[in-house]
Amino acid sequence: MRTPDAIPLDFDAVIVGAGFAGLYMLHRARELGMRARVFEAGAGIGGTWYWNRYPGARCDIESLEYSYQFSEELQQEWEWTERYASQPEILRYIEHVAERFDLLRDIQLETRVLTAHFRDSDNSWTVETDHETVTARYCIMATGCLSSSHTPAIEGAESFQGKTFHTGRWPHEGVDFSGMRVGVIGTGSSGVQSIPMIAKQADDLTVFQRTATYSVPAHNGPLDPEYQREVKTRYAALRAANSHTHLGFGSEYPASDDLSADATPEQRETRYQQRWQRGGLHFMGAYLDLMLDRDANEIAAEFVRAKIRAAVKDPTTAELLSPRQVLGCKRLCVDTGYYETFNRDNVHLVDVSSNPIERFTERGIVVDGNEYELDAVVFATGFDAMTGALNRIDIRGIDGLALREKWAAGPRTYLGLGSKGFPNFFIITGPGSPSVLANMVPAIEQHVDWIAECLSHMQSNQLTRIEVDQAAEDDWVDQVNALADTTLYPSCNSWYLGANVPGKPRVFMPYLSYPIYVAKCDEVAANDYEGFELS
Ligand code: FAD
Ligand code: NAP
Repeated sequence: MRTPDAIPLDFDAVIVGAGFAGLYMLHRARELGMRARVFEAGAGIGGTWYWNRYPGARCDIESLEYSYQFSEELQQEWEWTERYASQPEILRYIEHVAERFDLLRDIQLETRVLTAHFRDSDNSWTVETDHETVTARYCIMATGCLSSSHTPAIEGAESFQGKTFHTGRWPHEGVDFSGMRVGVIGTGSSGVQSIPMIAKQADDLTVFQRTATYSVPAHNGPLDPEYQREVKTRYAALRAANSHTHLGFGSEYPASDDLSADATPEQRETRYQQRWQRGGLHFMGAYLDLMLDRDANEIAAEFVRAKIRAAVKDPTTAELLSPRQVLGCKRLCVDTGYYETFNRDNVHLVDVSSNPIERFTERGIVVDGNEYELDAVVFATGFDAMTGALNRIDIRGIDGLALREKWAAGPRTYLGLGSKGFPNFFIITGPGSPSVLANMVPAIEQHVDWIAECLSHMQSNQLTRIEVDQAAEDDWVDQVNALADTTLYPSCNSWYLGANVPGKPRVFMPYLSYPIYVAKCDEVAANDYEGFELS
């Protein structure tokens, strides 16, 4: 009789997801000589940039920094055309990477992973997709922090006779809103990017706003070829400098170490003006204490509110568009003409903060007893972030322990990389890692490199099992929470806390501070994978 050990496994590693993370993980696994297979639910690669094709979709970290750095030739040869690349350009880039590194032959598209069960007897995973079942030594989740779209349950939605769209599942052929009365629900980053574009095309646009948003102008435009050439003469140094910044980007225009309280009102005003002129997420780097001190934050928030009042002609609309929560508590948005869009005659703002959307009818949406007749509704309502894609898979570890049950009160991981009870299981940019509070491409590369080094170490030492220590996990979860509690992040209902999804436990999921995190990961590896049990 064959022992389980003698049963050959189909793959060394199964990787779930073919976005930035899955592609690079496949590349590194191949370099280790592993047999790896990527399963991707979509009909194409690219992840975020495959699904989010809504008008105006683009990155809000500058293209030269929101890109892979693992290959010097790649980063030298690829030419970005805009300061912030558009979705089609990022997708072209990802497709180029896949072709360049010959990745496609190990990627199986239109294949959704349904279950992943650990088999204790031979330290392997059995992964079931909607097509087949395979076995592998390692199961690596590259399922994305923002890939599981969230559509709020609103009464009567199925009765609506118009068209509905979600920004995170946009039709490939595009949508022509000409001649239509369109409603957009949601004013986070996706709403902020799409609303100005839809407003230009639709006959009439009604924006249903629950929470007003802070947004800083992108000042997007063509990337100066001379600047791009110059950056490429020192690209590696720029990447290295970025890795020491709090968020993994922006070393060209570094965040300040000054405290707002130490500055005069005039100095603060000058500094905020400079950062506003520069545009983008750099705004939050004006002072060190913006996310630590409510007074400091309120001064910056009031600066943005003044900008909104200056941009929006109708004072009532300007007031409604002026956020009151802590600036940056929900992710700061970066826009092109967002607030100004509300000056258009064909754009209307409906406040649904105190009077939520009551229901859909056949003809439209009812708020506060008023029916808004619509031909199309766009849900810019975001994602079941960080845990959504993982919890949609039936993941079971030792003794059938279900990950979603273990995480019922909130995700528990060590370094966001693994979870106790789930051996040989890695998560790329999992909860408990900087992930969404970092420039995600380098954060992904850092995780993939760490996992690849770990797998290489296991190969060289003939090890077949790695599992998180309970004490290490408990301690890490405490650290993630304690760090968040020193900041203003837990003060509002953000998706960082899971607060956008009804019933989701309120737990702050990302780890704050990229460089401290990277140093910790390096230290863990240097100390023989301290906090993990290897056998
Ligand atoms: P994803 O790109 O989300 O890929 C995950 C893939 O896994 C998806 O294709 C999904 O279909 C697949 N998958 C999930 N579950 C399964 C399953 N069960 N079976 C098979 N396949 C599965 N980050 C930044 O740092 N800067 C930005 O400017 C920025 N802009 C963004 C703009 C938008 C519109 C959005 C939504 C996110 C943005 N992000 C940004 C975050 C972005 O998600 C990351 O930067 C990055 O693209 C994530 O890559 P990933 O490979 O980890 O995940
Ligand atoms: P989001 O930030 O979660 O915003 C969702 C919006 O929908 C919020 O305004 C929310 O209001 C609203 N909403 C949800 N349910 C609602 C309901 N029942 N009624 C009324 N309004 C409702 O989602 P997102 O805009 O898709 O962005 C998610 C993340 O993806 C971003 O934070 C960012 O990390 C990334 N992203 C980046 C870019 C970019 O610029 N590069 C673009 C898009 C996305 P509340 O705030 O009140 O919950």
